[in-house]
Amino acid sequence: MKMETKAVHAGDRQADPNNPSGFVPVTTPIFASASFLYADTARLDRVLGHEEEGFCYARYQNPTRAALEQTLAELENGAGALACSSGMMAMQMALLTALTDRRKTILAASALYGATLNLLAKVLEPLGIETDFVDICDLAAVRAKLAARSYGCVLMETISNPLLRVGALDSIAEAAREAGAALVVDNTFASPLLVRPLELGANLSVHSLTKFLSGHGDVLGGTVIADAAHLPVLASMSRISGPALGPFESYLTMRGIKTFPLRMERQCANACRVAAWLAAHPRVARVHYCGDPAHPDADVIGRLLPEGLRGALVSFELRDAGKPEVFAFMDKLRVVVRGTSLGDVHSLILYPLIASHRDLSPRQRARLGIHDSLVRLCLGIEAPEDIIADLDQALGA
Ligand SMILES: *Cc1c(COP(=O)(O)O)cnc(C)c1O
Repeated sequence: MKMETKAVHAGDRQADPNNPSGFVPVTTPIFASASFLYADTARLDRVLGHEEEGFCYARYQNPTRAALEQTLAELENGAGALACSSGMMAMQMALLTALTDRRKTILAASALYGATLNLLAKVLEPLGIETDFVDICDLAAVRAKLAARSYGCVLMETISNPLLRVGALDSIAEAAREAGAALVVDNTFASPLLVRPLELGANLSVHSLTKFLSGHGDVLGGTVIADAAHLPVLASMSRISGPALGPFESYLTMRGIKTFPLRMERQCANACRVAAWLAAHPRVARVHYCGDPAHPDADVIGRLLPEGLRGALVSFELRDAGKPEVFAFMDKLRVVVRGTSLGDVHSLILYPLIASHRDLSPRQRARLGIHDSLVRLCLGIEAPEDIIADLDQALGA
């Protein structure tokens, strides 16, 4: 089945043959209950003993979350999924799962989401998990690192933030497998519509559900989608430590996912239009966009991303601008929202200098190519004419 069909149907209308009422809700309801009982204790015993599928306690599983997890697994053709309280919790669960039976070493892309860098440095390193960094778009460098040291896992983002670089996920998966390392991919920026990492050889795919999948700016959540080899460890870890998403957020996320492919298509189309318009604007010095034929990773993008779906993100540098000029530009925006997120129905703009990359020194930012004039725009589903008119009046002549 195609993505659009799965997004609407997966997870819902699972009739319980033991439900004596006979009716089936059309959409999965919110099951706000911490525990579940059965007509006879023998059945509860079988459920608790894993002899029979079922629900007994919310840390183990909840019907609303189970429906969401089934949907997420189907969207990326995984063996299963775990829905977590945040994208960062999902990232932590994915890394712990990947490293359970492996060396406690991570080879990570040097361009990573800020909180992921903090997770590596402030949570995992004190526990004895070491991380080395590599330019993930330099395949030869990745191979050299994998040959020089034994790593438990490789960690990368499908599309990097905020410069939108794209590493050769398929080739990296192959190199990681040969080296005995698991591949963990943060697929938040691409979304399942553009890239399904498990199909390309990754073992664990992570998303912040807060972004494109829920899509309406009203949920904090994350997910790990696992292959068959890693699902049992992930599920067991979750039953024990309880990182799971609650039923209310699970419901909102499921509702959001039903329109996710439609929204994402429109957001990608808007990004394509706005990127072209920005590139021609005299006040814009440079545009970073995955649909640009001159993109440094154009070959990989052509191979991994579907035609016409080059992502909803466009980063751009204002000509001769520093912090005051960027602030003035952002303050003039009336349609585009100044929010530190992405993937919502409304367009969002973020200034990496004061947000995602504020903890880095000016030198570190310069080394990553993140200039003081750079802003990151994530297109929403508004009429592109209105977004362009808003940017135009805010940019001025
Ligand atoms: C937002 C984001 C995260 C973290 O997700 P939360 O839901 O905020 O915890 C991780 N990776 C990427 C690429 C993100 O954009």
